[in-house]
Amino acid sequence: MKVAFIGLGNMGAPMAANLVAAGHEVIGCDPVARPDSLPLAANNAEAVTGAEVVITMLPNGAILRAVAAEIYPVMSPGGVHVDCSTVDVESARAVADQAAAAGLGALDAPVSGGIGGAAAGTLTFMVGGSDAAFATVKPLFDIMGQKAVHCGASGNGQAAKICNNMILGVTMIATCEAFALADKLGLDRQSMFDVVSTSSGYSWTMNAYCPAPGVGPKSPADNGYKPGFASELMLKDLTLSQMAAAAADADTPMGQMAMDLYKDFVETEGGRGTDFSAMLPRFEKRGRSVT
Ligand code: NAD
Repeated sequence: MKVAFIGLGNMGAPMAANLVAAGHEVIGCDPVARPDSLPLAANNAEAVTGAEVVITMLPNGAILRAVAAEIYPVMSPGGVHVDCSTVDVESARAVADQAAAAGLGALDAPVSGGIGGAAAGTLTFMVGGSDAAFATVKPLFDIMGQKAVHCGASGNGQAAKICNNMILGVTMIATCEAFALADKLGLDRQSMFDVVSTSSGYSWTMNAYCPAPGVGPKSPADNGYKPGFASELMLKDLTLSQMAAAAADADTPMGQMAMDLYKDFVETEGGRGTDFSAMLPRFEKRGRSVT
């Protein structure tokens, strides 16, 4: 397939490299990143000319909208734009409408699996958009990932991603504050893990990604809380979840509190650049009177 790949940062570059390795004709574009794993175009319009599928992997919804405005006028009729960035649901739906008006297909297909999953080709794609566009792009999802779930209409991929990550953020905080409480009650961490991981408090954050070093399977906690999944990316996703909740008039008090805690952690408590499980040392240092 003739593919254009726009946005060749931490995630985009390895995803594009996997498509090249599988034999697709891929041309990339990025104003900053210059990976040598694929040919590069001078600008986004040049990259998408003649492409059957255009993939974007960009920082946010405003940049997605700007890139869509640049590329839709020059994309081939019937071409499909797949946005794999994590962006607000509103931007995802807005660009899908613009694509339809230009005679193009559009999918929002945010991912989970991080940089490791991008390099290994084991990402999970959560996809919103038409059946026809999904069928066209499915072979590419199968190369870049291990699973692609079609979640319904445009925007639903982003909706699935932020709902999942809202649960993840809230659960990580609950797991960390429970460990910090257990410490203060004199319960050792291994006993805490052994009980909770096999009781009704179990969760992915406890069982698969335990925030306590030396306990449970290997996780970023065993590597000095080096990400992994960085706290500032968790803050981004929680912020998107609360934007969506406000727009949809949904009551999400736990999501709101998780966003507020990660905001303080990232912006004023030194959490930037640490894994999102570094909430545990944060709680450890605090007493109840500290606000
Ligand atoms: P990144 O900042 O490393 O890469 C983004 C790239 O987009 C940069 O290289 C930048 O130069 C490029 N870019 C910016 N404006 C552009 C434009 N107008 N035209 C072309 N390229 C442009 O970010 P990343 O870590 O690769 O993440 C990309 C997206 O994936 C984000 O939306 C992020 O939330 C999401 N995501 C990241 C991870 C992760 O672990 N890094 C995991 C899941 C989802």
